[in-house]
Amino acid sequence: MAEISIRNVAKRFGDFTALHSIDLTVEDQEFMVLLGASGCGKTTLLRIIAGLETPSQGEVWIGGRRVDHLPPRQRGIAMVFQNYAIFPHLTVFENIAFGLRMQKLPQAEIDRRVTRTAELMHIGQLLKRYSGQLSGGQRQRVAVARALAMEPDVILMDEPLSNLDALLRLEMRAELKGVLAESKTTTIYVTHDQVEAMSLADRIAVMNQGRIVQAAEPIEVYRNPAARFVGSFIGNPPMNFLPARKADNGSWQVAGVRFDGPQAEREEIAFAIRPEDLHPAEDGLPAKVRVVEPLGPHVLATCEVEGHLFRAVLDSDIRLRRGDTVKLAPMPQRIRWFDPESEESLQ
Ligand code: ATP
Repeated sequence: MAEISIRNVAKRFGDFTALHSIDLTVEDQEFMVLLGASGCGKTTLLRIIAGLETPSQGEVWIGGRRVDHLPPRQRGIAMVFQNYAIFPHLTVFENIAFGLRMQKLPQAEIDRRVTRTAELMHIGQLLKRYSGQLSGGQRQRVAVARALAMEPDVILMDEPLSNLDALLRLEMRAELKGVLAESKTTTIYVTHDQVEAMSLADRIAVMNQGRIVQAAEPIEVYRNPAARFVGSFIGNPPMNFLPARKADNGSWQVAGVRFDGPQAEREEIAFAIRPEDLHPAEDGLPAKVRVVEPLGPHVLATCEVEGHLFRAVLDSDIRLRRGDTVKLAPMPQRIRWFDPESEESLQ
């Protein structure tokens, strides 16, 4: 069992707080993605789990053992970090084999593991090359192969695919997902790429300014953001927000249209809808079209509703032109509501 438990972990650099009291449990064999914008604290949290950074407070447990006072080597983890430490004077084979030799595994086992992981990472043909002669993307794949070859219970990865071109990235993503699921590894994976997060994760922990705002399955994070930040960070284009004023009988007035909404002791709250959950209909929100961008099967219409930016992803059969006013109705079950001050979900 390799459950990872982060308890009340904080990190301060001088008087700057990079992490505020983080609590997170990653279950045995789970694939957890830490997702957030640059500077939100993802790497710092990963480095604390790895033992490359000491927390200012709190505890880290791996597989039922408290590890925050142990050096990295004794934590039973493999890591792939941004500055992947590949030895340039060793061949690709020897780089991948490095940890296995330290463990004194028999040569046949080393051969088997190196060959297998190198093939998975599409670097099987490079095994005899010196790593100093590789491209950034190839080196990155050597680093991933080396970590996988250890067959660890826990693997920590910080943007391991960031140096690959789009197509290779897509391929490697699928490979990684497959191999990690098969090997029953517990994974924590850092990225700022929401598509990567969505496609890989069992659960995503969305971070903002040193806090975990929501940790949930990808579809849950997408459909039911716990906070306004999550709705605007995840999804491309992001969620739309409009002010909603209280009307009678628990209903709310949004751009002159009435909707059933939550009970709230507020005169104004925020109404939210994703761009793809809109369709033209007579009883819709009046939207003035500013820009129309064809996206193949869909068209992205950037509009204004009562002066607020409002985007809709519509079927490309719908003919729209700049300057048109179109009525856009939200799918009722997809409407979300947020508190204007705490910015938390009201449902
Ligand atoms: P990125 O995606 O850009 O790598 P991140 O979310 O991984 O960002 P961190 O590297 O964890 O962010 O950094 C979090 C914050 O802590 C940043 O504001 C960073 O400047 C700060 N920070 C990180 N390491 C140190 C340090 N050694 N001393 C001072 N501040 C630091």
